[in-house]
Amino acid sequence: MSMQRTVQRPTSRIVEAIPAGARVCVIGCGDCATVEHFGGEAECIELAEALREQGVEVSGWACPPEGDGVCNLTVARRLQSAAAEVLERSDVIVLLACPQGEPAVARATGLPVIMATQVIVGGLTGGNQVAVEDCHFCEVCIARAAGGLCPHSFCPKQMVNGPCGGAQGGRCEVLPKRPCVWEQIHRRLKAAGRLDVLAVYQAPISFAPTSGEDAED
Ligand code: SF4
Ligand code: SF4
Repeated sequence: MSMQRTVQRPTSRIVEAIPAGARVCVIGCGDCATVEHFGGEAECIELAEALREQGVEVSGWACPPEGDGVCNLTVARRLQSAAAEVLERSDVIVLLACPQGEPAVARATGLPVIMATQVIVGGLTGGNQVAVEDCHFCEVCIARAAGGLCPHSFCPKQMVNGPCGGAQGGRCEVLPKRPCVWEQIHRRLKAAGRLDVLAVYQAPISFAPTSGEDAED
C-alpha cells in the first residue's frame, strides 16, 4: 500500500531553485495547504524567514483567507489585487500550495512560480504515516509515477539514479530474496508510457554526518 502526501520541500532545495538575486514573494493557500499545515499563513511566515536567513531577498508573503484555495483563478486574482504592492517588488513567486495551484497563481500574477512543495509517496511507518523524514525529495517523485515504488526506500543501495547494474535474473544483488526495485520501476514506467521520468537526473544522496552527529573513525 502506498499513500500520497503534499509536503514542504527542504529550504535548501527551494533556495537552489531561486535565480540569483531574484526578489521573492511567498504565497500560501487557504484551503488544503492550511488544513494540512504545509502552506497556510504560519508556514508562509516561517518560510519567508527561513529564506531570508539563507540570504534570499524576500519582498513579503500573501495567503488567501481560510477556505480559499489558490487553485481557483478567482481566488488567485483576488490575492493578486490584495498583494499588488508586494508583487510589484517581486521577480518570482515561491508557492506553498498543491501543484494544482501553480497555473492559477502564474496566470493571476504573471510571475514565474517556484514550487515550495512536492507530492511524495514514500514508505509507510508502522502508524501508516508516510515516512517524510526519509524522503530524498527527488526532482520528480519516481514513486508517484511508478505506483508507489520508492527507490530510496526499497533499494538497499538507495540508488536514486538506478539501477546499479548488479541485479541477477531480476533479483537484487544485495538482497537476492527481493526483486530489484529498479527493474520493477522500469517495467511500471514503461507500461505507463512514463519512461521520461528516468531522464531526470536526481541529485545524489549525501551521507555526510549532519551537525551534532559524530563521524565514525
Ligand atoms: S521517489 Fe524520491 S521524492 Fe518520491 S517518495 Fe521516494 S525519495 Fe521521496
Ligand atoms: S540490484 Fe537493484 S535493488 Fe538491488 S541494489 Fe542494485 S539497483 Fe538497488
